[in-house]
Amino acid sequence: MRILISGGSVAGPALAYWLHRYGHQPTIVERAPAVRDGGAAIDFRGSALDVLDRMGLLADMHRHQTRMSAMTLVDDGGAAVATLPAAAISGELEVLKADVTRVLYEATRDTTEYLFDNTITTLDQHPEGVRVGFERGEARTFDLVVGADGLHSTVRRLAFGPESRYLRHLGIYGALFTTTNLLGLDHAGLMYNTPGRSALAFSARGNSELRVGLSFVAEELAYDRHDRTQQEEIVAKHFTDAGWEVPRLLEAMRAADDFFFDSSSQVLMDSWSAGRVALLGDAAYCAAPTSGRGTSQALIGAYVLAGELAECADHTTAFARYEQQLRDYVERNQRHGRAAARWFFQSPTDEAVDSLAEVVDDHVPLKQYRSAS
Ligand SMILES: Cc1cc2nc3c(=O)[nH]c(=O)nc-3n(C[C@H](O)[C@H](O)[C@H](O)COP(=O)(O)OP(=O)(O)OC[C@H]3O[C@@H](n4cnc5c(N)ncnc54)[C@H](O)[C@@H]3O)c2cc1C
Repeated sequence: MRILISGGSVAGPALAYWLHRYGHQPTIVERAPAVRDGGAAIDFRGSALDVLDRMGLLADMHRHQTRMSAMTLVDDGGAAVATLPAAAISGELEVLKADVTRVLYEATRDTTEYLFDNTITTLDQHPEGVRVGFERGEARTFDLVVGADGLHSTVRRLAFGPESRYLRHLGIYGALFTTTNLLGLDHAGLMYNTPGRSALAFSARGNSELRVGLSFVAEELAYDRHDRTQQEEIVAKHFTDAGWEVPRLLEAMRAADDFFFDSSSQVLMDSWSAGRVALLGDAAYCAAPTSGRGTSQALIGAYVLAGELAECADHTTAFARYEQQLRDYVERNQRHGRAAARWFFQSPTDEAVDSLAEVVDDHVPLKQYRSAS
């Protein structure tokens, strides 16, 4: 089948990898002009490591491991008040998101048609396929379309309706950016929490960089998602009078090349498919960054979706079985994401720290699908 995937970050390329192995022709359309850089450090847990292994990419990912030590929580003056174990923060394997995307791109670039700097504008389903209109270039017909285009998925909007129906705001906003390692950290992270606000900084890329996250509690905010200055003002306003190194970090934010700002939200849907269109990863079941499991979900989801398409006689059965296998796992992660969001902004008591370290089952029984070519 010719299968169009919208989104070339984690879920999209992982799906393309498996589809090709099962003999399909994947095309990825990605809004960014090239493979995306920047972003957080993300971790893989449980069955996601088995999927990486089955893709032959586990060793590659290990080569990019961040090797972070425990995260220290600090007070106004920078004194340590508590420690979060590395396993709770970094999972079993932690890699910068840019490196994850790069590894997946390298593994698929020769077998997948990539359309960068483009987006789907229309989806028109008919019994034999889906007619897809693009922002740039001719309309084309595909057998199936998969939306792996993240929290604000365009495919979801076109095939399922406005995102307000599916997004659940957890009451937190966060900015993320990269600067020089101005705190002199050595494979380490610091977190400064006061009720309602959290500043996080960790060293990256051999300690040459500092990745910074500034998060705060807020009711849903109205702002222009394309107006960076406005978003910076919102962040600065919420961190007025904050202690520790926050004033320096706010200064660095304004000069950063890769400023990112968004709400911490989950995607809750009754069904992840409609006809010949299915959703995958954050687009379908975002568990929010606080869950620390979005990347694992995206990888496992891609493995199961492609495997079911290879095994089932038709896409309708495959989509239903994909969903049956992952519902429990996804709901577990989403519960954890909500729980972690609650304690995140309390004072860092030992009790709060323990709740983050709580054991969550990261395993899904992974079927062996028919042997891939
Ligand atoms: C601050 C932060 C920290 C996180 N920490 C962790 C963590 O520790 N562990 C973890 O597992 N997960 C973490 N996550 C979540 C993780 O990044 C996501 O769950 C994961 O990347 C989901 O992958 P995805 O491919 O579904 O979506 P995304 O990574 O969001 O990718 C979507 C892709 O679609 C593209 N796109 C969007 N719209 C369009 C369009 N209209 N047309 C074409 N392309 C489009 C985007 O450019 C992007 O490349 C974190 C996320 C954030 C924001």
